[in-house]
Amino acid sequence: MAEKDVIIIGAGISGLACAHFLRRQRPELSVLVVEKADQAGGVIRSHSEQGYLCEWGPHGFLDNKEESREILADLDLIHEVQRAPLAEFQRYLCRQGRLVALPQKPLELLTSKLLSPWAKVRLLGDLCRKPLAGHPTIGEWAAYRFGKGVLPLVDAAVTGTFSGDLDRLSMDAVMPGVRRLEVEHGSLLRGLKKKGRAKKEKSATFLPAMINFPQGLEKLVQTLAKGHEIKSGCEVHGLAPQGEQWQLATNGKPLLARHVICALPVNSALRLLAPFQPPVQQVPESFICNVSLGFVDNGAIPKGFGYLTPECEGRFVLGCMFTSRMFPGRAPQGRVLLEALVGGRRHPERLELSDEEMVSRVLADLKQLLPLPEAPEFVRVLRPPSGIPQLEKDHLDLLAWRSELEQENRGLALCGFGWDGIGINDMTRSARQAVAAIGKDRRPDQTPEVKPVYF
Ligand SMILES: Cc1cc2nc3c(=O)[nH]c(=O)nc-3n(C[C@H](O)[C@H](O)[C@H](O)COP(=O)(O)OP(=O)(O)OC[C@H]3O[C@@H](n4cnc5c(N)ncnc54)[C@H](O)[C@@H]3O)c2cc1C
Repeated sequence: MAEKDVIIIGAGISGLACAHFLRRQRPELSVLVVEKADQAGGVIRSHSEQGYLCEWGPHGFLDNKEESREILADLDLIHEVQRAPLAEFQRYLCRQGRLVALPQKPLELLTSKLLSPWAKVRLLGDLCRKPLAGHPTIGEWAAYRFGKGVLPLVDAAVTGTFSGDLDRLSMDAVMPGVRRLEVEHGSLLRGLKKKGRAKKEKSATFLPAMINFPQGLEKLVQTLAKGHEIKSGCEVHGLAPQGEQWQLATNGKPLLARHVICALPVNSALRLLAPFQPPVQQVPESFICNVSLGFVDNGAIPKGFGYLTPECEGRFVLGCMFTSRMFPGRAPQGRVLLEALVGGRRHPERLELSDEEMVSRVLADLKQLLPLPEAPEFVRVLRPPSGIPQLEKDHLDLLAWRSELEQENRGLALCGFGWDGIGINDMTRSARQAVAAIGKDRRPDQTPEVKPVYF
């Protein structure tokens, strides 16, 4: 039985980032990545058709996270990326059936039409409210600190990231950094002010950009996969310690390694690790469908990222990206590409619709908000098979269990979709942590981040 120093299970961005960091930090180790699919990349997959370029999964990530920036620099991809800077591209929110521009900076909320005068005054309630005890949902927490008036904005933020439900997602699991500021400073606004000052002193303030590639996001995983030993078509269905090593049962021969990094989406990991008795068997997921539409460009689509819709608007579409505005070249000359998202945690039933019905309901919805030409010249309905894990009420128990598992089983580390977050930047950060845990009794402590932009 061939033996490796490290086996990484899963060749999505998490597993590939682990392999990348390992090669740079521990080149002496032999590393094998095992992947059940025929190709690497996991959820990240681009779709090109009739001159349009769409994405099955992620549509980009912000360029403000150290680990992802390091990967781009190491792979010499920095000069190839396409950038849509937040400062230049407007985001919109659907309110009372119209698109309203979202403030680019938090203070601009005070002059925006998105909040009523009372809701603006109520924001200051944060300064005199004690930290909220217990483990609130995001909705409960936001209403307590800032008043119910902010809920449509928070709802849209949660829709744009998790396609989730603010009345179910756990505040402590999704935004531990924000919770920490609240507890340390007795108010989020005070905490942010202090943090902002400290940041200015380090002169590190800049607004990030959303990035992707002219060839689609697949370019990132394809480049990252190069030069690593990857065994594709290899599904791991069992994992057990054997002396100082780990034995992996697969659909082929068993594999042996001193260290294993399980870089799988949380539900795949829970299935594999069932013998270690996790506190839950699976976490809820939210599935979405991407309706890609190409139109003759009549100039009606503004230069922006797109818009999001809070649930209280009662619309069919969760939000729509103005893809070719953000990343030119994704539509043929004189055409524009929009990608509308449907479904999410609150409306899985909508995904049951046929493609035809789906497209007709999406078009009816979009046309009430955007003066589009009569009919699209390109239509493709993409139904990503992977769901987005939801960090809801049991998530903290799950993280505590992972911590114990890693401490009790030297040589085992877990990262991947839905453990320490859900975005690509969360994956690269968590991959670095998992790699740092190799050969140690426990993973190094990490201060929770305060992410300034959630969508
Ligand atoms: C529809 C959608 C839209 C998204 N949009 C964004 C976005 O705009 N921006 C953003 O930053 N993030 C976005 N995300 C999240 C982002 O895609 C994920 O953070 C990231 O791709 C997860 O990577 P991963 O490697 O952890 O998991 P995956 O990509 O799922 O990779 C896991 C790999 O493990 C393999 N595998 C599973 N089980 C086994 C097994 N037993 N043995 C061997 N191999 C196995 C799978 O085949 C897969 O290749 C989106 C996700 C989805 C689903």
